[in-house]
Amino acid sequence: MQSIYIKEPHSIGIIESDIPQPKEDESLVKVLGCGVCGTDLKIFKGETLATYPLIPGHEIVGEIVSSQTLEKGTKITIDPNIPCGSCQYCREGKIHLCENLRAVGVNRSGGFSELLVVPNRQIYVLNKDIDVRSAIFSEPLSCIIHGLDLSNFKYTDDIAIVGGGAIGIIFSMLLSRLSIGNTLIFEISQKKIEFIENELKLEVTHPDNFSNKQKFDIVFECSGSIPGLETAFSLVKKGGKIIDFGVTPKGMNAKETEPFKIYSQELSMIGSYVNPFTMQRAVKIINSKEFEFQKLLTDEGNLSEIQGYITSSKKPFLKAAFIR
Ligand SMILES: [Zn+2]
Ligand SMILES: [Zn+2]
Repeated sequence: MQSIYIKEPHSIGIIESDIPQPKEDESLVKVLGCGVCGTDLKIFKGETLATYPLIPGHEIVGEIVSSQTLEKGTKITIDPNIPCGSCQYCREGKIHLCENLRAVGVNRSGGFSELLVVPNRQIYVLNKDIDVRSAIFSEPLSCIIHGLDLSNFKYTDDIAIVGGGAIGIIFSMLLSRLSIGNTLIFEISQKKIEFIENELKLEVTHPDNFSNKQKFDIVFECSGSIPGLETAFSLVKKGGKIIDFGVTPKGMNAKETEPFKIYSQELSMIGSYVNPFTMQRAVKIINSKEFEFQKLLTDEGNLSEIQGYITSSKKPFLKAAFIR
């Protein structure tokens, strides 16, 4: 079988290897699709705690080839995050903060491959008729559901979303249905603004064009940038919440944030990290076919074409994926 193989940071290629053998509590899966995520770019550059050599890819849709629990041909997605179950955090129910957290495509072979072996307890069943291009959003969606849970939003809240990439757009798609308040995306790329307005019919604006005095009960920071975080602070209402969802580069500090404002305006800032116990609900949303997530898959290719997105020599418009 063929796979994308990162031998060590900055060393990537396609390898041919034998089909892996599943253990008793594992299944062999044929990969149908696998989304490219910012984490994959960081793994390539050596900016994470990944284990090398590695077959990356953790946003996986596949089909069971052999399993002791699932029928051959069952369409599935997987929760890549594998908690240890016995550390302090796992025992407190905070499995995503596990001290020994491992992940498919980070510490064991992932989905940029023709086949892979995954633990059965990480597998979630998709309906047979679900479009692979929509289902590759299962894992990102499970992280978004965690962010929504942490925000504890009310259905009358006005909500701002900073960053109109695939993640910000999914927040907006869901919240436009769940809240009767104003849900507005802030995006700086004119091309993305046009796409969001024309193709997705969602509310979007450039921050510079937003002269309104309107403030928001909740702001989801999805740009993963310091200017984005500063925009979030300028948009949040007194007593409001900022959900820090976008991944800012490690080691980078926000200099313009004034703690006095957090104190005097009773602001809350909440980090949202991965997907504890939310995968089941993500799959329920995907299986419902209520949202056209496939519209966000703007770039796709085979394994060798996908390498370019991992090394950042190619940039997708919104989201790239390996599609078989
Ligand atoms: Zn990801
Ligand atoms: Zn643990």
